[in-house]
Amino acid sequence: MHIGIDLDGTVTDPQSCFHYMNDALGYAIDYHQATEYELHTYTDMTQEAFWRFMIEQGHEEAIYRRSLPHSEVNAVLWNMRKAHRLHYVTARSEAVRAVTEEWIRQHDLPLDSLIMTGSHDKVGVVKQLELDLFMEDRYENAISIHEQTSIPVLLFDAPYNRKPLPTGVKRITSWNEAQHIVRHIATTNSITI
Ligand SMILES: [Mg+2]
Repeated sequence: MHIGIDLDGTVTDPQSCFHYMNDALGYAIDYHQATEYELHTYTDMTQEAFWRFMIEQGHEEAIYRRSLPHSEVNAVLWNMRKAHRLHYVTARSEAVRAVTEEWIRQHDLPLDSLIMTGSHDKVGVVKQLELDLFMEDRYENAISIHEQTSIPVLLFDAPYNRKPLPTGVKRITSWNEAQHIVRHIATTNSITI
């Protein structure tokens, strides 16, 4: 199978960005109560102003560099890679490709294919690469990918994505669970999850 995998909050620990906001920028966000995915919503800045600030002050690269990997992701991805093609599909922009690739290598994760969309719209990439399965943590992405391509989507549980899911989008809580589902799909040739 060709599997699409989001980076932030999926390969990285979803708490990473919130920790950075608190430790480096002085916010006091309670991750467990976080209902919003977009970090600027925790500030008094607009999305555009927030990311301009993050880029200009070097915080964008720092937040990616300091992120920690999700638990179990390392072993599971190397295992999956034996039988499947893995494609990281991130909303990060090409401007941060170097720091992103460095982080992936530093944490000893497989790196064969990295697509940087620079926007939340990943549907075009899913179609272009003819992906069979996608893994995400952003609720809106999971829904739109499934609705517009019909492929199954695994949504990594996080406080900010706890909303009702349609059939075909499955909430999971660990990379080991993802591995079991991938095995099930591959061995039964069924995309019903
Ligand atoms: Mg994400």
